[in-house]
Amino acid sequence: DIELAIKVVIVGNGGVGKSSMIQRYCKGIFTKDYKKTIGVDFLERQIEIDGEDVRIMLWDTAGQEEFDCITKAYYRGAQASVLVFSTTDRASFDAIKEWKRKVENECNEIPTVIVQNKIDLIEQAVVTADEVETLAKLLNCRLIRTSVKEDINVASVFRYLATKCHQI
Ligand code: GDP
Ligand code: MG
Repeated sequence: DIELAIKVVIVGNGGVGKSSMIQRYCKGIFTKDYKKTIGVDFLERQIEIDGEDVRIMLWDTAGQEEFDCITKAYYRGAQASVLVFSTTDRASFDAIKEWKRKVENECNEIPTVIVQNKIDLIEQAVVTADEVETLAKLLNCRLIRTSVKEDINVASVFRYLATKCHQI
């Protein structure tokens, strides 16, 4: 019995690893040249929270973010969001505030995680730990550092959000 189904939207600049994250979490794979499968809007995975089955549906943007034309339909009914930036892409970090604002515009206040992805490339970091933590506090979001490539902390992101939604 599925007690709860949660739509999670994953936003952030192009190239930060959003599609890879969805693939990793739902299919358990990491491929260098992931291309969106035509016709698939989201992938899902079922987990257990407090003994109850929860279905997590992860929605991909299919590259629309690069043209700033994510449709309202993408956000509709979302109960949680993930704001992703890359350790090696300064502009993607600077854009996080704007992504938060866009999600809030469409979804009001929903449980949200800021994800710093590509921590396997920490030697090439263009953001400091301090400024990332400061931003997360300012935006009142949980911060989780991940490597989709090395499969570090990816599951924690969705477990955290599912737990939050389960409590509501
Ligand atoms: P999207 O545009 O946000 O959907 O990003 P993609 O999922 O297409 O990923 C962009 C590139 O970053 C691809 O070449 C991925 O293989 C790579 N990538 C994604 N996650 C990681 C990671 O954790 N570490 C490293 N080193 N590369 C990653
Ligand atoms: Mg993508």
